[in-house]
Amino acid sequence: MEVVVAKNIGFCFGVTRAVNETLKEVDENTYLLGELVHNKETMGKINGKVVENIEEIPDKSKVIIRAHGVSKEVLKRASEKKLNVVDLTCPKVAKVHKLVSERKNNFIIIIGKKTHPEVIGTIGYANEYIVIEDESDLDELTKVLANNKKKISIFSQTTFSSLKFASLVNKIKRITHSYVEIIPCICPVTEERQKEAINIANSVDLVIVVGGKDSSNTAKLYDIVSDIKEAVWIENSNELNLEKIKNHSKVGIISGTSTSMETVNEVISRLK
Ligand code: SF4
Repeated sequence: MEVVVAKNIGFCFGVTRAVNETLKEVDENTYLLGELVHNKETMGKINGKVVENIEEIPDKSKVIIRAHGVSKEVLKRASEKKLNVVDLTCPKVAKVHKLVSERKNNFIIIIGKKTHPEVIGTIGYANEYIVIEDESDLDELTKVLANNKKKISIFSQTTFSSLKFASLVNKIKRITHSYVEIIPCICPVTEERQKEAINIANSVDLVIVVGGKDSSNTAKLYDIVSDIKEAVWIENSNELNLEKIKNHSKVGIISGTSTSMETVNEVISRLK
């Protein structure tokens, strides 16, 4: 069996930085505001306590902010609670926060998953906004914009599918009828992985997608490749069904940005 491994694989640089810095900073009294990565193996190596809400953290404690970033309201609460903040927001996400903040008087459209922590953080920098996840949100957008006089700026979640983003922007432009500013903020890492995933899916018999089941960028990669070729989504090498795979002569391996190289290498070894 030939195994084709993607070149863009393992943690992205934002996650690498967050994991490395956390491993230096963390002890059993450190709090993590949300899971650092959607990856059980990596989380198993980190001692801190994971909480979902800043109010659960005792005053003056140390808190790690993950690569997804948080809203300015959360940062304000951290300051009021005198928390020792280790802010590991990915620089790409921090740039989106800055660009949204600079457009206080605009109506902001964010294309992304409504429940994704990065999107929740980013909307915290906008005054008037709507999150568009898919076509089903366009009726709501039409209603919201009926009396809008503001300039409109469109952003996206950094890990959103670039194809889906382009398609939604075209549909939004038909609704707005006016000038809209489009701010490209899909992370190049995500775009490269999506492009490479398409190329790999077109050249193999089966694609193995490695990544946490809660990871939204892994879910997107899986959706993209499974539209083209047979695909399986596993979290780690233990989930490989070798019986199912052994009849394929050429297998591709890709991963989400929160999957470590260690996990990928275990999958490759087991396949071999
Ligand atoms: S995918 Fe891009 S934006 Fe997201 S954490 Fe990684 S480098 Fe940062």
